[in-house]
Parts: sequence; structure tokens; C-alpha cells
Amino acid sequence: MEILHVSAECYPVAKAGGLGDVVGALPKYLNQLGHIAKVVMPMYRTKFLHANKWEVVHKGYTNMGTWWFEFTVIKEQTNSLGFDLYLIDINGLLDREKIYGYDDDAERFMAFQIAVLDWVSAWKHHPDVIHVHDHHMGLIPFMVKHSFKYAAIKNVPTVLTIHNAQYQGWLGWENIALIPEWDTWRWGMLDWKDTINPLASGIKCADKVTTVSPSYLAELQYMSNGLEALFEYEKGKCVGILNGIDADVWDPATDTYLNHHFSAADAEAGKAKSKMALCDAFDLDFEKPLIVFIGRLVGEKGADLLPQLIGDSFYFIGRRMNFLILGSGFPEVESGLAALKPLAQYDYNVYIGYNEGLSHQMYAGADFLLMPSRVEPCGLNQMYSMRYGTIPMVRRIGGLKDTVIDYGEKGGYGICYDQTAVGDISHAVWRAVELYRDKEAMATVRKRMMALDFSWENSVSKYADVYASVKR
Ligand code: ADP
Repeated sequence: MEILHVSAECYPVAKAGGLGDVVGALPKYLNQLGHIAKVVMPMYRTKFLHANKWEVVHKGYTNMGTWWFEFTVIKEQTNSLGFDLYLIDINGLLDREKIYGYDDDAERFMAFQIAVLDWVSAWKHHPDVIHVHDHHMGLIPFMVKHSFKYAAIKNVPTVLTIHNAQYQGWLGWENIALIPEWDTWRWGMLDWKDTINPLASGIKCADKVTTVSPSYLAELQYMSNGLEALFEYEKGKCVGILNGIDADVWDPATDTYLNHHFSAADAEAGKAKSKMALCDAFDLDFEKPLIVFIGRLVGEKGADLLPQLIGDSFYFIGRRMNFLILGSGFPEVESGLAALKPLAQYDYNVYIGYNEGLSHQMYAGADFLLMPSRVEPCGLNQMYSMRYGTIPMVRRIGGLKDTVIDYGEKGGYGICYDQTAVGDISHAVWRAVELYRDKEAMATVRKRMMALDFSWENSVSKYADVYASVKR
């Protein structure tokens, strides 16, 4: 089958989080199964764009409301990613460095979605499925079905994957003229609580909806930022499929970001060297267990609790562990973490910002990875950390619940707790410190984790089943 993925992110072209990792890997593994999976995304001005060769495959002229614009579709020439990659350029909207964070993001992604559908309508044949990701691309299922302009592709089935339902892309109804002329009887397919809600519209109009773990799908029916009733109503067409990890990119034996490679057989020595390098770079004490956090510093990830957690852990458990934090997000969390630095020298450090290489080095060099998430649709960090022999300390929620078993249970390998609350998390920190004292138990848990298989091979056939179920 031919599947066109439409996304705002795709690793290594542009990534802000898990969405980028998934769209950079799933198409590759679909192709390995014998499908033809392609990706189209906006042409941001990224390093990847400048470092690769491209050919122009389509030029178009179209409109978003009263604004007429030209767009250009380019294709990557070397096929180095394992799938055909197309970028769409729209001058004035997409020719920027960052993926998100501009005042006109709604217009940027709206114009991009229009350009994608104009381009696909001009194909000689049509894809078997258009697979859209998250709210940024959530209006495509509606436009395919109900915008008169796209009558030629009206029967192409659409699949929506929800990587995060917290963000829904809400737009006031005053923006309705941006959507190419549509069947006004269908206004209810755009509306949710008196706004145009692209995520809700995608859920209503897509032929199938997937979420990135089974537990997250179950949780959305009672906790989805206002869409609970919709998930309950549409549950018949929703499927939870756990993300895989790209085992080619995330392999401690070959990872190009690491100076010391290792596999399960020599993990103790390899990890010790990686930890030593991290401790040198960040002024930390090698002898103590190293607990890291990698991710967006936002409430969803429980990052607002980190400053208090670190202070409380030092106070109640003692200076028996190191913390190293990598991330960016809410300014008050960033400044809270920065303020701790002079108070906790040699036991704590923080890197505010996004740093792909450092994240890999931390998965490799840490002893424990902290994930006190309030919401976690799938979570990739815990899977990366386990592949790199780092014990995850996770709240039992969403994908974390589906992937980590507490080491106190039979065959378990992680540290789990029930609430995103400082008390629960600092108890987990204490358990980590105690576990670390028992070298034999650490080695056993590490071996168990590194033998787990979280590769895409397990999940990709489930996506293939979804495509087969919607094919016309
Ligand atoms: P989400 O998409 O909700 O942010 P996921 O766990 O699905 O969370 O994916 C997070 C991905 O982003 C992982 O690959 C993680 O390593 C990466 N990441 C998050 N923050 C940073 C950062 N500051 N620097 C480097 N990588 C980061």
C-alpha cells in the first residue's frame, strides 16, 4: 500500500519531541514490510535542508481565504532516510528556523495543509491512505471529505495519529474563511464547544484514529482536555498502538553521539566510562548514583516539581545521589532549576536547552532516568533509557504503564510510583539510592532491561492492519 504521512516534525529533519522520532522511523519500517510510505512536511530552514540535495517535483499556486500564494514541493534525492521525503515551501510562512512558537502558527499549518492537498490532488494516482499526525494536520480529514476543491481525492481514506491530545489547535470561528470552500451542512464536523477544533475535527472525520499506547487511549476517555465525550463516542474507530524505537539510531553499540560504545555484555564497563565523561563535564561525583531528567520542562512532564524534589531529596535522603537535568520549557521551571545550581554543587547540574547529542550521552551515562509525568501518551525516553541500561523511574500512567514493570514484581526492571507528587517521587529516589548500593541487583535489572525488545518491528504490523481496514 502507498501511505503518505503528513507531519509538522520528522527526525532528523526537524524534531521537537516524540512526534519527530515516530514520523522519522515508522515510514522506514513500513517500507521494510513492503509498503511504500512517504513523508511530507514543511520546509523549515534546518541544518538537514542545507546539508542534503533536493529536486523540485511540483510547483503550485493556491489560496488560503483571500491570500493567494505559491508553493514548491521538493524531494530529497539520496533516499538516505529509508523513505521518500518531501518538503513544502511557502514563502513568508514556512521559511523559518523553528517548527513552532510563532504568532501565526495557525495560518502556517493551515496553508501547509492546503498545499499538501492541492499537491496530492494533482498526482496521477492517489495514495491508498493519507496518515496525518496531531492537531497541526488535523483539518486534512475534514478537507478531504468536505472541501469541494478536493473532490478528486474525496475517497482517499485518512488516518489520524494522536501523539498528544493536550494541544488541539483551537481556532476561533472568525477564521473559517481560511478553509477552502466546504459543505456548510458539515459545520459540526469542525466545531467543538464553539470553536474550530482541528484535533476534534480529525477524530470525527478520519476513518481511523490511533493513539500511541493502549493505556493512553483508555485514559483519554476520562482525561483529554475537554474531548472526553468525543473519545467515548468515537471509541469504536480508535486503536492504541505502542510506539517503537528506531533501533538503528538508538543503539549504544553504534550510536554516533557516544564516545564509549557498549552492549549488554559489556554494559557495566561501557556505562561507567560514559558516566565518568558526564560527571567530568558537569562537575558531578562519579561515586554516587546519577539520576537524570530529559525532556520538556512543562507541567505534563511533572517538571515543575523538580526543584522541590531535588531540594527535598538532599534534605531528607541526604547528599547520596546526583541529579542532572536537560530540557527547556516554562521560564519559572527553568529559573527554579538554575537557582538550585549554586546551592548544590557537585551533586546537581542543569543544561537548559535542546541538545540531541547530550541526550544520547545521558541515556548512556546515567544510572536512573526520572519521568514523573502527569500525562504520557507513550513516552520514548524510558524505552531509550532501558536500551542503554539506565533504569527508568516512572509514574504509572499512559505508555509508561505499558512499558515499565517495577523491579519489586516478578521479572520487573524499573521503579514505579502512582502519583506525580513530591512525596511519591522522592520515595522512588530513595529506592533508587538503595538499589544502587546493591551492585548485583543493579546488574540483574540492567541485563533484564537490555534484553527487552521495543523495536518498531512489533508495532509496525499493527499500523499495516489499520491501513488495510480503511483501504477502499
Ligand atoms: P514528548 O514528545 O511529549 O516531548 P516523548 O517521550 O515522546 O515526549 O519524546 C521526547 C523526545 O525528545 C525524546 O527523543 C527525548 O530524548 C527528546 N528530548 C526532549 N527534550 C530534549 C532536550 N532538551 N534535548 C534533547 N532531546 C530532548
